[in-house]
Amino acid sequence: MNEWGDRFGGWFEICSWGQVVRRTMVLTALITGAAVAISDLWLRTGYPQLYPVIGLGNIVSTIAIGIILAGPMLFGFNMMSWRLWRANQRLQQLANRDPLTGLLNRRAWVEEHAMMARKARRKGETGYLMVIDADHFKQINDTHGHDVGDKVLQHLASVIAASNNADAICARLGGEEFAIAGFTILDGRLEAEHVRTSVTARPFTADGVQIPLTVSIGLTLLDADTALSDAMRRADNALYAAKNGGRNRVCVAPGRLHIVEPDALQGESQRVMKRASSN
Ligand code: GH3
Ligand code: MG
Ligand code: MG
Repeated sequence: MNEWGDRFGGWFEICSWGQVVRRTMVLTALITGAAVAISDLWLRTGYPQLYPVIGLGNIVSTIAIGIILAGPMLFGFNMMSWRLWRANQRLQQLANRDPLTGLLNRRAWVEEHAMMARKARRKGETGYLMVIDADHFKQINDTHGHDVGDKVLQHLASVIAASNNADAICARLGGEEFAIAGFTILDGRLEAEHVRTSVTARPFTADGVQIPLTVSIGLTLLDADTALSDAMRRADNALYAAKNGGRNRVCVAPGRLHIVEPDALQGESQRVMKRASSN
């Protein structure tokens, strides 16, 4: 087909709703333009008795064209906005999620934390931050290969996310390191312990071989008024202590733990246990 053939043939090939709308608009302009030109010509050649007929005909045909075209055009516009909305959602997903595990990435997690902290500040809530690091993960890669390592990371992410309190936000910070931040809990120790035991209780199986998994966790109080970077530093130090202390444990950053009334902690404990049994 030559260039003109291509262009002409292209008119009958509908690839997107955007094209439908564009074509509808061009055709409307052409038809209306032609109608106006013809009626103008008639008027100029002088048939005064036809003026009202032509005028009425113009009005009726304009309304008819409007009615016939408005539906598809509106539908086309809606389809276009829907497609844009979907594309936007997809872009957001790509920008905010870690591609391997589907958890929030560090940047999105920091943004979510900022929103949570604003709410917590208004309500006067404090919370907790835990940094979770898989133990001896390099050995898993070295023994079973990088692909199995990737699957173990996906498995770990799903266990950590499932054992997480629904109000808290969970992210993969990078490598084999994860983080959870939450504001509605009085004390994160039980939450952290729950994450740790959930990981230990669910080893990964590859080709019939069980790979035992453990994590070390650094925990600190998350104060809505202090910078997240400060809390991260404290949690990292606590994580370092957990690694040095033999791994597979939770260490709490010194001096910053919330003072919790025993009764309140008892209530927390019951809530965590209830959630653990429903998981
Ligand atoms: P430790 O208990 O002290 O944390 O030891 P570790 O082996 O877990 O820590 P180390 O920092 O020595 O090794 C982390 C390893 O995680 C090394 C790196 O190759 C691996 N890793 C990081 N990101 C990925 C990933 O996306 N996929 C896989 N398969 N491995 C990863
Ligand atoms: Mg590690
Ligand atoms: Mg690490």
